[in-house]
Amino acid sequence: MSVRDRALGALSGLAVGDALGMPTQSLSRVEIAARYGVVDTLLDGADDQPIAPKMPAGSITDDTEQALLLARLLIEGRGTVDPLAFAAALESWEQDMIRRGSLDLLGPSTRRALTRLHEGESADTTGRDGTTNGAAMRVAPVGIAFGPDGPDALLDAVVAASRVTHHTGLGIASASAVAAAVSAGVAGAGLPAALDDAERAAAAGAARGHWVAGGDIAARIRWVRGWVRGMTRGQLADAVADVVGTSVAAGESVVAAFALAEGLGDDPHAALATAASLGGDTDTIAAICGAVLGAHHGVEGLPQDLLATVVRVNRLDLAPVVDGLLDLRSLHS
Ligand SMILES: [Mg+2]
Repeated sequence: MSVRDRALGALSGLAVGDALGMPTQSLSRVEIAARYGVVDTLLDGADDQPIAPKMPAGSITDDTEQALLLARLLIEGRGTVDPLAFAAALESWEQDMIRRGSLDLLGPSTRRALTRLHEGESADTTGRDGTTNGAAMRVAPVGIAFGPDGPDALLDAVVAASRVTHHTGLGIASASAVAAAVSAGVAGAGLPAALDDAERAAAAGAARGHWVAGGDIAARIRWVRGWVRGMTRGQLADAVADVVGTSVAAGESVVAAFALAEGLGDDPHAALATAASLGGDTDTIAAICGAVLGAHHGVEGLPQDLLATVVRVNRLDLAPVVDGLLDLRSLHS
């Protein structure tokens, strides 16, 4: 399998996970089970879906859209992201979503940061309390653009892509974990090694943002990987839903994605279907898990029927994005 297959796998896995979780996002686990059973295929957003009402099956959400936006800025900036340009791009993305009648708008940390920016605050402090999963959900392109052999450059790029909205130890650690796992996966590291890299990167990333109270991301990923090993799929789902948590907090949903990658890493379809059925921030958990497992298994390792639908419904053309990011990777390694 080539580096390009794995890089394409990362973005494709992100999109498939996002689309699988689209109809279940923000619902409870009990309600998802009652309505759908296990969500192992692409479903329409129901009329009363709180964030994605009436969205056709296979539709992606903010996770993939913001990741592609970040990818475009990275490519245009030759590997650097200007925080103010990124903030402006996020704002115009939201305006476009409003025009399209979408209820899928900026998350809480990003909204607050952009308001502060308008009020004249420095981009160094606008993200001072962003502890949700927004930086982690969109960061996969950084892991494609930067190889694992230059962890400092990778971390600097994660910080640049995160700080305007999520300039906290928790926000940056969680984004660092995802970027590092994708970067190592694209390099062909093998899943255990890629998840070890995620732990290391999270520990380094935690030191790069404002301190906000919360369980340490690296420690929580290390703990959950050990805990879920050997669990059945049902035990794993209970463990993640009941103990790790599936809220938008980075310390819950991002750790949940790594728990699924550890426990069901050999079977991306099962991992993403489980994520979509857990309740809470299902689309983001599945998107992050999809990026990590897609980087490891490559595009051929993803459920091909689901991927074909997601590509068609959203008119995705991921190959040029992947090529642009891999051009950067060759410059930086
Ligand atoms: Mg979403």
